[in-house]
Amino acid sequence: MKCLIIDAVHSSIAEELGKYMQVDTKMLPTQEELVALIPDYDVLIMRVDPAINKEILDAAKNLKVIGVCSVGLNHIDMDTAKEKGIQVINAPGLNGNAVAELTIAKMLDIARHTIPACYDVKVNKNWDKYKFVGSELRGKTLGVLGFGRIGQRVGELGRAFLMNVVAYDPYLPAHVFEEQKATSMTIDEVLKVSDYVTIHMPLTDETKNLFNAKSIAEMKDGAVVLNMARGGIVNEKDMYEALKSGKLGGYGSDVMENELAAGGLTEGAGFDSPLFECDNFIVTPHLGAQTVDASRDIGAHIIAKVKEALSL
Ligand code: NAD
Repeated sequence: MKCLIIDAVHSSIAEELGKYMQVDTKMLPTQEELVALIPDYDVLIMRVDPAINKEILDAAKNLKVIGVCSVGLNHIDMDTAKEKGIQVINAPGLNGNAVAELTIAKMLDIARHTIPACYDVKVNKNWDKYKFVGSELRGKTLGVLGFGRIGQRVGELGRAFLMNVVAYDPYLPAHVFEEQKATSMTIDEVLKVSDYVTIHMPLTDETKNLFNAKSIAEMKDGAVVLNMARGGIVNEKDMYEALKSGKLGGYGSDVMENELAAGGLTEGAGFDSPLFECDNFIVTPHLGAQTVDASRDIGAHIIAKVKEALSL
């Protein structure tokens, strides 16, 4: 048997599957390249690129399993895969802790001004402890919007910092909030009472542009917003106004409005966001799931499922 790996995935996958089959790597082939390569292979290991269309699956005469080292499967023609008896395995829920820890990191960075303080020391050669007096998370209210896997883990970590956790998620039954020791509220209530509001819902027609001038106006003065979900949920122009005017105390984000369309940010597409002018805007390049721990756990899951599918 033969396995083809086409993205940066944990090394344990090649090591373990290599005990049973030949493992080749071709990083991020185009769809055309994959059509030419795929007929030889029994197993394909990938993340999200390239999209697996009917043409690739038609060419995949020997393919039995696709192991997708991420959550979503909308980049795969699932109907054709099913028709051809190709099993598609994904890895849901294994990066939640990584995203949740990054959320807490950003809350602490904003609360303690670590990024501007570090810049002041290293770049300005200024050692001034009175310039960056911070605040603590202890006793503050953490409002979670979207109380799924990641939102619940953020709530749990927030409680460890002695925060009061309130949450908005109209799609969950009451017992989930009770089990997680979070108070269920409407979105307006969460916005009103929270010192930190953290976004963990998917980008949908309902959530697109949800954070705009109107919702920001409902928030406490000086409150902080965190967005580890999707850029399109926050209106960047309105967020800029709120940071500039001092209405909000900070915006910590792992995602940008123009990120998906541009495949990241490029000069003129995303880097022109007015948010980059604000010192109290801190951003990372969609790093939420990028930990060695999540990659290892996803690798272990994919290995087990591929072996099960092939009865190895
Ligand atoms: P999840 O499906 O477990 O949880 C999402 C929750 O949002 C669900 O409980 C759902 O009921 C709720 N929800 C849906 N629509 C809502 C609405 N209109 N209002 C309020 N709540 C709503 O998903 P998850 O694993 O917790 O991931 C959440 C989001 O985080 C994903 O959609 C994705 O966009 C983002 N994410 C980002 C990274 C990153 O690297 N930054 C990594 C993984 C996921």
